Amino acid sequence: MLEEAELKPKKLKCPNCSNKFVPKFFHREKVKFELGAPIHRFKIPKFKNSNGYSRPYNIVRRSWVTFCPKCKYIIKFAAEVGKKEMLADFSSLLHLKEFKENGNIYEYSFHDYEKPYKETIYYNEILMEDLRNDILNTLEDLNLAHWGKLYKMWKSESSIDSFKFLIRFYSLILKHIEIQDVKISNEKYSEKIKNLDLPEVLKKDLLEIKELRRKTIYEYYDLNEVDEGFIRNIFINLMFELVFKKLEPLELKSIYNKKDAEILDNEFLYSEFKKLFSNYLEEQLGLGEYANEFVISLLNKLKVTLT
Ligand SMILES: [Zn+2]
Repeated sequence: MLEEAELKPKKLKCPNCSNKFVPKFFHREKVKFELGAPIHRFKIPKFKNSNGYSRPYNIVRRSWVTFCPKCKYIIKFAAEVGKKEMLADFSSLLHLKEFKENGNIYEYSFHDYEKPYKETIYYNEILMEDLRNDILNTLEDLNLAHWGKLYKMWKSESSIDSFKFLIRFYSLILKHIEIQDVKISNEKYSEKIKNLDLPEVLKKDLLEIKELRRKTIYEYYDLNEVDEGFIRNIFINLMFELVFKKLEPLELKSIYNKKDAEILDNEFLYSEFKKLFSNYLEEQLGLGEYANEFVISLLNKLKVTLT
């Protein structure tokens, strides 16, 4: 997980109320003329100096502008400075940025300055990158692709039918039980299911899978659409619980309790989590139309919310 120090942002102190904060954004002030076309074709803004003589500005400035979230005081930093410089050598044709004044040719030479402070988005991106790695590393152990491969084959319709899916799904459940190393003397499937760390409803459903399998094999029972929906739901619910149980210890929610909670952009983080889970789960499991509900329920259960 993220170290406290990495979240330590450089803060700006408001000259008006002394509030220390990380700017949400900087915007660049507009200058009075565009540089996309030669300056000499534009009317360069002039000002009158003390003796009433008009001439172009010697220096053109643009600022990075932000404001204090507490007192709304506007704070500016240099973003671009254009200095008027006389040219010693010049051709008879005026080039871009050049202009004539009192028989001399001048040009503005510009210098850009970076934003003086990082905006909140920067810290949110670092945080998200860190969490993304933690989440993906954690989920790797689940080997979801193993389950997903079977589900994708079933859903692509051409490869395997519902009966084959049921049989293979059942054997994956058995393998899962084996990996969980449920320590009970009774070897019965039903006993092992009861001892899995899963919600009671899901355990009951997993027992139904066994019964359905038995019926299709020994009683030549044909699976109908209702059965198929039932099997699909159990598959999705089981995947949901496996993913949730794996992610729960990461305590993603705890990032919201960090000291500098004011720099956290919930909207940004929420949408990044959503994107991350949607992409990952789609790739691993191929849940298609069921993916969105899966991801939203997962985020809810992990207490990752917009508010
Ligand atoms: Zn202030």
